[in-house]
Amino acid sequence: MVTTAGNPQPLGGNELPRFAGIATFMRLPGRSHPSDLDVAVVGVPLDIGTSNRPGARFGPRGIRDESVLIRPYNMATRAAPFDSLRIDDTGDVATNPYNLLDSVDRIEAHFNELLAHDVITVALGGDHTIVLPILRAMRARHGPVGLVHVDAHTDINDEMFGERIAHGTPFRRAVEEGLLDCGRVVQIGMRATGYAADDFDWSRQQGFRVVQIEECWHRSLVPLMEEVREQVGDGPVYLSFDIDGLDPSFAPGTGTPEIGGLTTPQALEIVRGCRGLDLVGCDLVEVAPIYDTSGMTAHIAADLVYEMLCVLPGVQSRS
Ligand code: MN
Ligand code: MN
Repeated sequence: MVTTAGNPQPLGGNELPRFAGIATFMRLPGRSHPSDLDVAVVGVPLDIGTSNRPGARFGPRGIRDESVLIRPYNMATRAAPFDSLRIDDTGDVATNPYNLLDSVDRIEAHFNELLAHDVITVALGGDHTIVLPILRAMRARHGPVGLVHVDAHTDINDEMFGERIAHGTPFRRAVEEGLLDCGRVVQIGMRATGYAADDFDWSRQQGFRVVQIEECWHRSLVPLMEEVREQVGDGPVYLSFDIDGLDPSFAPGTGTPEIGGLTTPQALEIVRGCRGLDLVGCDLVEVAPIYDTSGMTAHIAADLVYEMLCVLPGVQSRS
């Protein structure tokens, strides 16, 4: 039985024009304390972990701005996330724009605090560095987690410019720190060029499944996601979605675009295919609106975050 039960609701477009008001994610009230929530949408503005084009510090604002168009019910799956769960935008982490390592510590502390209230976190990035402190907090709360990681890149570099913390290293650190249940990790969308021809093999040596983009081309990913659900099983799992997993024709507003990427229908199939998993957190990272001439990258990101909300445990469908 789906009941609204006074849950925070997105402000409708017939109550205040969609272009008006303060932009929270999907025009949610933005006034809830995490102790009153099932799901916290949280911005993590950070881009000093990027190796090339910066701009993901503006990702949370860009995603919130574009999210004003989204309506509460999913017409494909009939999911009713706001009737089923108490969801609100809890604002941004106070990252330190002058210090990456301090920012990482601040993000971990912020997520530890959110998770203490037993919420599912949905993070708006920010560059992919943010997933390391988030996974540290997840590990502290849930133990090692499974992972569905969508990206053009595996992000398993040992170092970047001699640094061990950067947006291309988080999953190497996560393995070293015991944050992941490696047999329950899948990486989808990997492609393009590497520093060495065997760059992706380190992931496979850890027990990850690596689905390179060529396995995805010209086909539905529904069968793949059946296999992913089988692999990931019943334990806690985290979904990390780097927008550069999409083809740059769809999502040019990102720091490290790579050709031959996922289509938007495939991205929907991946996220919808996570339904039934015990998702304990999600993120959507690497949106850099300054390279985004139409706002469409942030728009797609907002839609994908909405789709994440639709597959969280406890979300029911209206018949
Ligand atoms: Mn990434
Ligand atoms: Mn990437």
